[in-house]
Amino acid sequence: MKNMTGIITEIQRFSLHDGDGIRTTVFLKGCNMRCSWCHNPETLEMKPQEAWYPAKCIHCGHCKTGCPAQARVTIGREMTPEEALHEVLWDRDYYAASGGGVTVSGGEPFLQADFLKAFLTLCKENGLRTAAETNLSLPWAVIAPCLPLLSHVYFDIKLLDDAAHRKWTGVSNRTVLENAANLAASGIPFTARTPLIPGVTDGEDNIRGIAAFLASVRENCRYELLNYNALAESKYEPIGLTYALPGTRPLPVSRLRELAAAAASEGTQCRFSRG
Ligand code: SF4
Repeated sequence: MKNMTGIITEIQRFSLHDGDGIRTTVFLKGCNMRCSWCHNPETLEMKPQEAWYPAKCIHCGHCKTGCPAQARVTIGREMTPEEALHEVLWDRDYYAASGGGVTVSGGEPFLQADFLKAFLTLCKENGLRTAAETNLSLPWAVIAPCLPLLSHVYFDIKLLDDAAHRKWTGVSNRTVLENAANLAASGIPFTARTPLIPGVTDGEDNIRGIAAFLASVRENCRYELLNYNALAESKYEPIGLTYALPGTRPLPVSRLRELAAAAASEGTQCRFSRG
């Protein structure tokens, strides 16, 4: 029987933004949402896919047999949990020295729940601290079995209004909110996040509403506002997609401060990233 495999987009070493300390982030391919601003569009499809970078093309004609200039690349590779563990163990000394560990991200990592559970089990057996970044929209029965294997969960609440959430992500937020309440009841450390998309998620009503909801399920919980990151735009064309929000710019720091203060006043420990 063939070993269980997951589809991995990338394993990124020395990551400083996906949890505490120095981390290795394992990006799993596939997502059930379609956020208009998605920062990792190469993770949306579950299957490996081709990307084409015209600026790197040296017209060698070797596209079909392996392109030496990396103008045509395949995004996504099958790995067993053991193979993924082997790669993340390379930096275990850095995790120990910095309080870091391994973060699973995506895409939506719980879409590959069997692989995820097997991989996290191996991480735990090897004494690694683990975190997950999730959109929290899959059924609780899929998420719950992995919780004992995780040290921290980072999840998004993008929009509190369900109609707006459906419009901008393609999915209802109902399960997200139910799961956030379940997560709070489970006692696991978590950080909620909202990506600040100008004109979409950055209204004070939205941020206050999300913060009040969070405070109602876990008083004074960690809540991060992530400023808009314009770098995602360049990722779309190479994989044949069109970016829905061209020309959008990050928010000024003064606005970030205002929104963070509003969220804090609703009963969360809120901080912001400048993007
Ligand atoms: S949930 Fe995350 S990975 Fe999925 S579409 Fe939204 S931003 Fe992209």
